[in-house]
Amino acid sequence: MPTPHSPSVEGRRAVTVIGLGSMGSALASALLDRGHPVTVWNRTPEKAQALVGRGARLAATPEQAVTASELTLTCVFDDDALRKVLTPIAGALAGRVVVNVTSGSAEQARDLDAWLRSHGAEHLDGGIMTTPPGVGDPSMMFLYSGSRPAFEAHRDTLQVLGDARYLGTDPGLASLYDVALLGLMWSTLTGWLHGSALVGADGVAAADFTPVAVRWLTAVAGFMTTYAGQVDAGRYPGDDATVDVQIATVQHLVHAAEARGVDTALPRLLESAMRRAAAAGHGSDSYASVVEVLRDAGRGGDSA
Ligand code: NAP
Repeated sequence: MPTPHSPSVEGRRAVTVIGLGSMGSALASALLDRGHPVTVWNRTPEKAQALVGRGARLAATPEQAVTASELTLTCVFDDDALRKVLTPIAGALAGRVVVNVTSGSAEQARDLDAWLRSHGAEHLDGGIMTTPPGVGDPSMMFLYSGSRPAFEAHRDTLQVLGDARYLGTDPGLASLYDVALLGLMWSTLTGWLHGSALVGADGVAAADFTPVAVRWLTAVAGFMTTYAGQVDAGRYPGDDATVDVQIATVQHLVHAAEARGVDTALPRLLESAMRRAAAAGHGSDSYASVVEVLRDAGRGGDSA
């Protein structure tokens, strides 16, 4: 295990990290931990002090930073900030590999990819599915898409940050998965918090409710796996539980919330999606058929 001041380990590839906020600092730190030579640049150079104390080299300019290593990780606030850093150094990017883990849209990732390739650089876009304390933990997922040769060439280095999953050559995919997974997280957490508020109103501690809720998520994950095939096939046999049955059941959730003064917006939103699916002819289909009304919202469907 390298000490905090240990020199870089032979054979470990040099990496540059641009952006030393909470996440960029964690990325640089994990690479130093594993003995990689690390060059860093941050708009506010003072934030590099601790990393420099552990052996990182501080570049004076973004240009010096990207030319110090074949591989550069960029992790700044957003796409605007990234462009402000990269645009003036476009001429220094040829032959470099830029792995951008700044959050953004799929469209921004695709534009960045075209721009980087036009300047002779390879590009991978990334989605970080953890918070800074999770960086370096192999159970945490880092999603990448874009240049396959760049991923293959730098897989071992990227694996230092967390489990590196390659999604495909479309550079927009990592960002799209990222927001889709965040949506899943927020929906799940809000459902759990709503449930905690419900049982809490009747005196049950969240700490008692939560192990049961977590166990239930295992079953829910099983439903998702079964329903994925139905979503892809566009056929939703209602042989487990139909939308009509779930519309009847969701009334109990609305009632339980109303009776306890708990917010009803979430159960009413769920009920609305189920009712629209039933109105579109899916009453006797499985819950997976709700995807039809979610998909159609942008094509003139009723999203209310
Ligand atoms: P942060 O702590 O606020 O750091 C923002 C970084 O962006 C700083 O290095 C800042 O430089 C830099 N920056 C902002 N505007 C800039 C500009 N105009 N020019 C140059 N540099 C600029 O944010 P963070 O938590 O590290 O997040 C960084 C990225 O990682 C974001 O896109 C975020 O969505 C993504 N991410 C974060 C997490 C997380 O848990 N934190 C998880 C997944 C993904 P200064 O130090 O000079 O202000």
